[in-house]
Amino acid sequence: MYESNTSKHHKLFIIGAGASGLMAAVTARDLGIDTAIIESNDRVGKKVLTTGNGRCNITNESTATGTDEAVALSRKYHSNQTEFPLPVLQQFGVRQTADFFNTLGLPLIAVENGRMYPMSLQAASVLDIFRIALEDRNVPIYFKTKVLDVTVSREHPRFTILCQTETEGQIVYTSDYIFLCTGGLTAPKTGTDGSGYTLARRLGHTLIDPVPGIVQLKLEYPYLKELSGVKFEGLGHIIVNGEVIRSEYGEILFTDYGASGPPILQLSRKAAYQLARGETVTLSLDMMPDRTEVEVVDFLDTHWGTFGHRTVAASLIGILNKKLIPVLLKEAGIDQEPNLLCQDLSWKTKKILYRLMKRWEFIVTDTNGFTNAQTTAGGIDTKELKEGTLESKLVPGLYLAGEVMDVDGDCGGYNLQWAWSSGYSAAMALADHLAGTT
Ligand SMILES: Cc1cc2nc3c(=O)[nH]c(=O)nc-3n(C[C@H](O)[C@H](O)[C@H](O)COP(=O)(O)OP(=O)(O)OC[C@H]3O[C@@H](n4cnc5c(N)ncnc54)[C@H](O)[C@@H]3O)c2cc1C
Repeated sequence: MYESNTSKHHKLFIIGAGASGLMAAVTARDLGIDTAIIESNDRVGKKVLTTGNGRCNITNESTATGTDEAVALSRKYHSNQTEFPLPVLQQFGVRQTADFFNTLGLPLIAVENGRMYPMSLQAASVLDIFRIALEDRNVPIYFKTKVLDVTVSREHPRFTILCQTETEGQIVYTSDYIFLCTGGLTAPKTGTDGSGYTLARRLGHTLIDPVPGIVQLKLEYPYLKELSGVKFEGLGHIIVNGEVIRSEYGEILFTDYGASGPPILQLSRKAAYQLARGETVTLSLDMMPDRTEVEVVDFLDTHWGTFGHRTVAASLIGILNKKLIPVLLKEAGIDQEPNLLCQDLSWKTKKILYRLMKRWEFIVTDTNGFTNAQTTAGGIDTKELKEGTLESKLVPGLYLAGEVMDVDGDCGGYNLQWAWSSGYSAAMALADHLAGTT
């Protein structure tokens, strides 16, 4: 137990002023709870500022159409406990999120594929609105204050929070309740260094090994420099032990280290988990996803029949990005034959080219790491949290919200949606508890 300074006691201390902590603070205060926030940075929401390429993809309305919106939304999330996110999303989904921000004076607009952004298209305005909301509600924020340890006691005050500050050295705050909103491990420069995991583990919680999610993939391939910058609409598959474990369609981009683009980012969490298990992971790219293998053979045969007098390289212009052609010719073993005509293509070479169009395979060596990832897959085990309220089953009075727990969403606004939904649900649950209704 650390020496306590009673002047810094609040009923609820929220650790972390990121997306989930900000949502929880506004909601808790509106529900009449004496709330304060501790944040290691000198401002709120440093990560939120970088989201959606500076525009902040707040949520996604594409699941908000059917009768069971929350169920559709919950399919965008991943956790060891598949059903865990649902009761949280049922309490606070896409519509409630849009209404919440509207009420704060931040109307949302849908831009592409259901992705919703602030009307200003500026992530900074999301933070400004939260700052104003917290000021209006007199919620104190202790900046440049990093939580080093949390201890729990049977007596009042229940929680003792040891912090490192820039100006006052180590200080101690106390509270009756704690929300752990410390995020995961991605973009550590924004303040998320995994210290939240350490705090939770010291309190008895289990960490499911975190891996980077929504991140580029590194590939083992000798011609990546030549391919770098090439974009195409295609289908990507992650293959492990000969089995396709996830497929995604969209714009794929080659980089000098591997592959990026929305489908690759979506595939990355599966790849990261398999790599962490020591599996061999293959990325298979389909450059003609609208055609079956048979149709590709027909299409190319007809094309080469029509343009039999052209070189193979010339025949592929107009079908593929020009930078891809020399690499495909190398793969087919005909790069040393620049004058080879389509009419002279051997059956064996044709077969290689057909295959490359539909199943161009690359060994995935790694992801591009937490520094470049948008989310963390894994985190504190949700088995140890109460469904819907997010209160710890091990430490009554401790609630978790946001990315710190083992829930991560697909690309497209779903991770921030989880932060809003879980921050809100934790605050509601605490208010219900204080009102004696749970
Ligand atoms: C580049 C990038 C782009 C993204 N774009 C999108 C997008 O457009 N849409 C989307 O849905 N998601 C996006 N995400 C993901 C989204 O930002 C996160 O899922 C979300 O911010 C998680 O919210 P959180 O509250 O759990 O954690 P965070 O927002 O990461 O906040 C955690 C806070 O806790 C503080 N903290 C941590 N440890 C301590 C400690 N020990 N003491 C005190 N304070 C502490 C940190 O400083 C931080 O401010 C993006 C992420 C990145 C990196």
